Amino acid sequence: MEIACLDLEGVLIPEIWINFAKRTGISELKATTRDIPDYDVLMQQRLRLLEQHQLGLPDIQEVIAGMGPLPGAADFLNWLRNRFQVVILSDTFYEFAAPLMEQLGHPTLLCHRLSTDSKGFVTDYHIRQKDPKRQCVKAFKGLQFRVIAAGDSYNDTSMLAEADSGILFNPPQNVIDEFPQYPVAEDYTAFRRCFLEASNRSLFL
Ligand SMILES: [Mg+2]
Repeated sequence: MEIACLDLEGVLIPEIWINFAKRTGISELKATTRDIPDYDVLMQQRLRLLEQHQLGLPDIQEVIAGMGPLPGAADFLNWLRNRFQVVILSDTFYEFAAPLMEQLGHPTLLCHRLSTDSKGFVTDYHIRQKDPKRQCVKAFKGLQFRVIAAGDSYNDTSMLAEADSGILFNPPQNVIDEFPQYPVAEDYTAFRRCFLEASNRSLFL
């Protein structure tokens, strides 16, 4: 039995914070862990900016809904769900991902969550556990599943290492150079082929 574990941002949907910053014109929201390495400091800054700009969760969700999944992502996901049990493992928050998951037919998503006050402002964030993507893969293996994992960036490499097979989707060059052991798919056609090759299924299914 096989499970396909998929990253979300950069694989099925755009990077939420970067696109949200572009769409709202709040350029300070473009900061990532490359600019502010301490994730808690970065998240506190993001929450402060949302409050300053008076963006409550419903406003944020409306902007995110307008992003849409990446072109071809919904078809790819349907294809994958017809052939594998699919679980999406992400470092995003349920409340942010929700409008896009609706457009993808509500696949299973394991990620983190936000809390809001009575006016809908985001007050805090809650990380489910440390190194969650790897912990999920480990748990599925403990349930006797064979795991194929795929992602686009550094925060996926520990789950790729833990999985039976790993695939990189449209990664930046530095990730390709640093992790040459994984096949790279540049588009969804190549991605489908990589999954079939990683699986014990026939390529002609
Ligand atoms: Mg990603």
